[in-house]
Amino acid sequence: MTYKISIDNHIFSFSKENEPVLFVKSGDEIEIETMDCFANQIKTDADKLETLNWDRVNPATGPIYIEEAQAGDTLKVTIKKIQIDGTAVVATGKDLGVLGHKMESLYSKVLKIKDEKVVFNENINFPVNPMIGVIGVAPEEGSINCGTPGSHGGNMDTKLISEGSVLYLPVFTEGALFALGDLHAAMGDGEIGVSGVEVAGKVTVKLEVLKNKSITNPIVKTNDVTATIASAPTLDEAVTIATENMAKLLKESLSLSIEEIATLMSAVGNVQVCQVVDPEKTARFAIPNIILEAKEI
Ligand code: CA
Ligand code: ZN
Repeated sequence: MTYKISIDNHIFSFSKENEPVLFVKSGDEIEIETMDCFANQIKTDADKLETLNWDRVNPATGPIYIEEAQAGDTLKVTIKKIQIDGTAVVATGKDLGVLGHKMESLYSKVLKIKDEKVVFNENINFPVNPMIGVIGVAPEEGSINCGTPGSHGGNMDTKLISEGSVLYLPVFTEGALFALGDLHAAMGDGEIGVSGVEVAGKVTVKLEVLKNKSITNPIVKTNDVTATIASAPTLDEAVTIATENMAKLLKESLSLSIEEIATLMSAVGNVQVCQVVDPEKTARFAIPNIILEAKEI
């Protein structure tokens, strides 16, 4: 079945307490309409961050209940398509992001997207790399606002989560309660200014429940690499968790000793930064798919 859900069905935090807005079966496809991270409040340069309703940031459309999903399963999310709107917004400002201490006030600018390029100004444009900033399931405990990443996914701001990728998420509750939002027309690793090129749009996903497969943190697979994703209070801690998770994945898939795994990861694996500006920092460990060939994850 293919379903559609609109931006009328959205959440600002991931929680087991959220009421599902759609019930699907493993294998179904859903076209999910999303607002941008400011809930579409900034549409022209007259709309200012100073007057933004900050209670309405990082909306995610959902949550979707997948019938077969139980705690301990893995949710496989195949990102079939990402469609983005023609107008986007970039933002930064005083005390925001890595350069925030060098600024005096808040800043935002509306940008046009034309012919698959972001028109930054009259001299600079660059190709889009559409990706999903917020994507996840209900966490193991409590309620986590959609601006914060974690083991449940959330605001991972990971540019590998793009069209054609497959994201694996741990399931913590019956139905999983999947949601996504915060599309970026483009974003660089780190997201140092605190925003990507924030845009509304539509994402088509296929959701499948994997039984007898348990993971502790998200894993993304692209055409080229498989990457374990981890979020923690510091980048150092996030790197350690992502590296340990990759070592575990390789141990399960290949019959190698820990010494062989460490030397293999050291030789061909890459520690990469996802984002350094959210309440928790996110890093990933990427290994080329030639190493994990023919393995599901
Ligand atoms: Ca984000
Ligand atoms: Zn964003």
